[in-house]
Amino acid sequence: MKSWKLPLFRKHKITVFENAAKTGQFIYQIGESDDLRKPSKEIPVNKIRSKDYQAKFRYVKNCLKKYRKLTGLGRGITGVQVGIPERFSVIYTPEKLIIIINPKITKTSKGKLKYPEICMSANPIIVPTIRFAWIEFEYFDEQGNLQYWEGKDKILNRVFQHEIDHMDGIINLDKGNPKEFILESDPQFYQRVKFQKTP
Ligand SMILES: [Zn+2]
Repeated sequence: MKSWKLPLFRKHKITVFENAAKTGQFIYQIGESDDLRKPSKEIPVNKIRSKDYQAKFRYVKNCLKKYRKLTGLGRGITGVQVGIPERFSVIYTPEKLIIIINPKITKTSKGKLKYPEICMSANPIIVPTIRFAWIEFEYFDEQGNLQYWEGKDKILNRVFQHEIDHMDGIINLDKGNPKEFILESDPQFYQRVKFQKTP
């Protein structure tokens, strides 16, 4: 009789790694692109409506749709993650995809929260990441209109901060404690986690 135990969640891990292999076909992974670690370029506001930029926005929107179709997950992609090092992201909300261009944070909450995140460029590492509970920021939409975000949804505010970090060459791994990193394997993991207040 064997006297050792096999690791847990072996079936779920196959799905997780198969998904990572599929989405890694169009999402750059850390180490594959120097741009992931560099600040991306501002987009000239008078060019937002140009064919060239509209095609870039459409491409990243399609990448997010494809990611969600393959995995059922995925909240945001920033240009640099798919080879376009310019300051814009596409964010998923149940109602629509939001494009934020050249965002500038104008206000942040006093309190911060810790919550485990996965970055599409470092998939499937779960990184408990401390971020502001909410931020306010201005940005341009894909028509070139100035908009202001002041919503308080915890997940969306986290996704925005995660994506804006990408525009500055920062990945959640840089903010987390490596001793707390987890390789995704437990299919129930996200059903148990809660936002944790941090000092
Ligand atoms: Zn990311």
